[in-house]
Amino acid sequence: MTRYRPGTDKADRYDAGVVRQRGGVRVQVHLFGVRGSLPTPGAAFLRYGGNTSCVGIGAGGATPRLLLDFGTGARNLAAQLDTAPFRGTVLLGHLHWDHILAIPFFPPADRAEARVMLYMPAQGDPLAALEGPMSPPTFPISPTALRGDWSFHALEAGEYDFEGFHVTALDVPHSGGRTFGYRIEDGRTAMAYISDHSPTSLGPGPDGLGAYHESAVALAANADLLIHDSQYTPEEFAARTDWGHCVWEYPIALAAHSGTRRVLLTHHDPGHDDAFLDKIATRLPRSAALAVEGTVIEL
Ligand SMILES: [Zn+2]
Ligand SMILES: [Zn+2]
Repeated sequence: MTRYRPGTDKADRYDAGVVRQRGGVRVQVHLFGVRGSLPTPGAAFLRYGGNTSCVGIGAGGATPRLLLDFGTGARNLAAQLDTAPFRGTVLLGHLHWDHILAIPFFPPADRAEARVMLYMPAQGDPLAALEGPMSPPTFPISPTALRGDWSFHALEAGEYDFEGFHVTALDVPHSGGRTFGYRIEDGRTAMAYISDHSPTSLGPGPDGLGAYHESAVALAANADLLIHDSQYTPEEFAARTDWGHCVWEYPIALAAHSGTRRVLLTHHDPGHDDAFLDKIATRLPRSAALAVEGTVIEL
């Protein structure tokens, strides 16, 4: 696995003039899936990865029990778990297909010993919302047919504790249903995850990239890491302004507005193969990188 380590520069060890304590249990962020909209198998997509959104948060080298989204990237966690059951919490940012596709295809959670608490932005009955795409005739089984102890919860914006982490959930503009961005903290470090984000729907902002609105800035504020939507180039965006996403420059500027240390650009468009993404990579500042499936970031 490649490894990207924020916090290795001397300047990174300071936060508002206070020396951060770097001892103790470290948080690991696992990028299980970084593709947006649709899985992209094929040789042209091998280096950045073709699995859709799924990020695992763990600590002390343990297998993650807190997942953000449940796209096909969750299959990478299934491979790690092997025959062990998954017992943990899944926070869905929203319910679009690319963020839920692995729910019925994740063997560690489809067994008697499994326990899954699945949370999604509140918008009516949570089970009924999942049964739309996951029941006959669109799919052979419904969520309640999965084995193990599954529970389905509607989450309001606010602050929570899940699996030993402090979680802040805030509404962000996207399209087609309510969408949350999340901030995850362990008392020492913070990371923000905004996988699908349409900041231009709140106005062009000071530089035309989209609004630096209250929720986005609060999620990213002084975080060690921001993982953010970067679906389009400016040229593509001109014809897709209402498709729910943003240009790759926006998260870099949001980080500058929010005091975020490092940015990982994710939710790669299915039309962007490795060669295309390599060209974007050459234009990024030192504080930013493209998300690569299989990466583990230690905070
Ligand atoms: Zn998406
Ligand atoms: Zn979406």
